[in-house]
Amino acid sequence: MDKIKTEYFRRLLLAELRRHARLIGDDQAAAIDAADDGAKESADLSLRDVIEELALKLVADIDQALMRLDEGSYGLCVRCGKTIDERRLEAVPTARYDAACQAAIEQANGKNERPTI
Ligand SMILES: [Zn+2]
Repeated sequence: MDKIKTEYFRRLLLAELRRHARLIGDDQAAAIDAADDGAKESADLSLRDVIEELALKLVADIDQALMRLDEGSYGLCVRCGKTIDERRLEAVPTARYDAACQAAIEQANGKNERPTI
């Protein structure tokens, strides 16, 4: 991946990072608290936990993608080492796998989650 593309994806990832970082902050917590009518305090608390957990996971993914950019391994599938399609990276800048490996992983997970009756 050349320097121009590296910078392009870095900006893409940093924009994503800012978007998700906002979800973690007090602003989001305050927004959810404001919507709270007081009757479902525990439900709102768990909603906030879920949002924060998701946002933290996304931020961690973006952080790892930025690290891979610095190392020069960004855009390579961590499973097979092949180049990840750039259209895929534009849609999912934190993608760690190429489409083939992602499909294989999802298929394997689907099999594991199926009930074994
Ligand atoms: Zn792969």
